[in-house]
Amino acid sequence: MSMELRREKAPDILWLEEITKEDISLVGGKGASLGEMASIGLPVPKAFVVTAQAFRRFLRAAGIEEKLFSKLEKIDVDDTSALEEIATMSKKTVMAAKMPKDLADAIKAAYEELGGDKVVAVRSSATAEDLPTASFAGQQETYLNIRGKKDLLEAVHRCWASLYGARAIYYRAKQGFDDRHVNIAVVVQEMIEAEKAGVLFTSHPVTGEPISIIEGSWGLGEAIVSGSVSPDKYVYDRHSGRVVDRLIATKKIAIVPDGMKGTKTVELDPERQRSPVLTDEEVKKLAHYGQIAEEHYESPQDVEWAIAKGEIYILQSRPITTIKGTPETKKEVSEGKILVQGQGASPGVGSGRVVLVRDVKDTAAVREGDILVTKMTNPDMVPAMRKVAAIVTDEGGMTCHAAIVSRELGTPAVVGTKNATSILKNGQQVTVDGEKGVVYDGIVAQAAKKESPPLQSVIPVAITATLVKVNVSLPEAAQRAAATGADGVGLLRIEHLILGLNRTPQWYIQNRKEEEFIQELYRGIKTVLDAFIGKSVWVRTLDAPTDEFRNMQGGEDEPLEHNPMMGWRGIRRDIHTPEQFRLQVEAFHRLWKEGYHNLGLMFPMVNHPDEFSRTKELLRSWGVDTEKVTLGIMIEIPSSAILIEEFIRRGIKFASFGTNDLVQYTLAIDRNNPLVADMYDPRHPAVLKLISDAIGVCRRYSVECSICGQAGSDPKMAEWLVEQGISSISANIDAVGKIRETVARTEQRLILEMARRKNA
Ligand code: PEP
Ligand code: MG
Repeated sequence: MSMELRREKAPDILWLEEITKEDISLVGGKGASLGEMASIGLPVPKAFVVTAQAFRRFLRAAGIEEKLFSKLEKIDVDDTSALEEIATMSKKTVMAAKMPKDLADAIKAAYEELGGDKVVAVRSSATAEDLPTASFAGQQETYLNIRGKKDLLEAVHRCWASLYGARAIYYRAKQGFDDRHVNIAVVVQEMIEAEKAGVLFTSHPVTGEPISIIEGSWGLGEAIVSGSVSPDKYVYDRHSGRVVDRLIATKKIAIVPDGMKGTKTVELDPERQRSPVLTDEEVKKLAHYGQIAEEHYESPQDVEWAIAKGEIYILQSRPITTIKGTPETKKEVSEGKILVQGQGASPGVGSGRVVLVRDVKDTAAVREGDILVTKMTNPDMVPAMRKVAAIVTDEGGMTCHAAIVSRELGTPAVVGTKNATSILKNGQQVTVDGEKGVVYDGIVAQAAKKESPPLQSVIPVAITATLVKVNVSLPEAAQRAAATGADGVGLLRIEHLILGLNRTPQWYIQNRKEEEFIQELYRGIKTVLDAFIGKSVWVRTLDAPTDEFRNMQGGEDEPLEHNPMMGWRGIRRDIHTPEQFRLQVEAFHRLWKEGYHNLGLMFPMVNHPDEFSRTKELLRSWGVDTEKVTLGIMIEIPSSAILIEEFIRRGIKFASFGTNDLVQYTLAIDRNNPLVADMYDPRHPAVLKLISDAIGVCRRYSVECSICGQAGSDPKMAEWLVEQGISSISANIDAVGKIRETVARTEQRLILEMARRKNA
């Protein structure tokens, strides 16, 4: 039927197949989008729409148009009680009016055609005559699980009345819509009694890579949307047409239809909890429908799906909103009086008012956009660090707490200035250049208002054979980290998560609150694992020196050490205090059991192969199958670089250079002491020899060899590492792009050189 004809006849009912996106003024946004989905071949559940024209006919026939609109015209929507009163009256007026008999008959006939006594969803789909594309989503009502003609007519009538709910009237008034020109259509759609349902991202929701990610659980999709169940996840590579990863979660409950009452939550039996929701064939079909939607709408989509009696249904398709394509623009300052200088530890420029922070109590004075100046940050300052425009410290180097956390928050930082806390004064306006390591007097650049840091470009610079991974410390940075397109997480430092709790693990043990601790750890790690589906995430076991624990609740009992850097930390402490180690392992164990096989464990500060063997024994004693999970070590102490072959014999699956410590222990240079900062040299020949030799051994045994120390974020070092044959490089979030580029260039140069040698 042509548009012209349809308009002439002002249809009361339109079926989805008859609708195109041009019909939006007849069927509203919801109706038009369902119609469009059906028209491109997506299996949308059967539906018809009671058109906006039918609604207008109803108003006219009942003679209530003027009564309604004249009241609405005069309303002051900021007067809440007047708004409520008029809304209630208007809804009553609509509900009291009789639906024309021929319209009621048409709706009943359409319902009959739908299949007689089908259970339907009745959804409002509002539209403005003058701006048909305006969205009123969520302002009007939806009624689920409607069965029978009488209830259907009642639900349609209620949808109409909901156009005059207080919230909807308020919204339209504020948006400048004239109620005389706002109409409502009603979509009546067969409800799918989903046996399984979920969502599908047609491309990676963060990085935009061409892989489809499907989440699914038993029953209705609400279980996933409401977050009441951890869904299965399936990763489908659209290039190879294969399921490349699947994560089968324990799905304890399902939300299922409950007749007229709506829905109910049921517990699933243990076998069903753990069984996969989707077959590979279903994943493939869903990904195929996703691709149809993505190609049609010309952007990656977030698709809701359901499966009932073996049939796939597509319920909704919306553009994914989290993919961002523009890299952060770099701001620089070039002039102004320099007040203090140090190391540029986190790039960007921030201007604002100085707030000197001696300890956590002073952080109460920190406001959004201030400049936090302190001797050295510690974990209890992280909430304040989130607010500020820049951070400046007296102490520390590129690998100190302030540097690591600032980089992840995307906040400019200058560290190791030696004297910022004595030179800078409270309230003084300054500008911090985190690239150059300089603090200027006054506002010398148009610094950006502090916003959550933008995601980096989603298009990987190049595919490299050497993996380029990313370091993460704060779970909140996981999305930004994934948006770099990194090939995984080469270091997840969990101590930032634990230190942020402000209570030592020992406190949790003494206060019998172990479960709380395990949950915190579990949740934080899971956030990162979820952002890196299909990619490995190496979680490092706790590595906090005793002095960092001391300020926390429970920290009173921490031993006083002369040199905490070389003291009771890392794996040696976990081996000495298995009760503390066990809590961490419990969190890992739960994640493995839920199917997060991308979780690998990395042990810090290992100095003897026996420590690795002992650690494995402990894991086994707590039920971990150490042959199945991925275990590796950090090379932070020269002894572990020298003994790497023995570690390999004892079963490590990977080794990663922690150059922050490796440099300080090889050269006897305190990494946080600004007095010797100029001698802290990751490219010292002794350090390079240790690294190069260990890479050689790992290569001989085909063991993955990586780097997660700060040196891996230095392009010069990255070039050298690729030449040595390193398998992966894990860089800071802000450095992933440039390291990827360096790695790509180096690999190409090496290939070219080899080809030239061959041809010579
Ligand atoms: C390292 O030592 O290089 C490392 C990555 O660990 P951290 O900086 O946490 O000591
Ligand atoms: Mg270290």
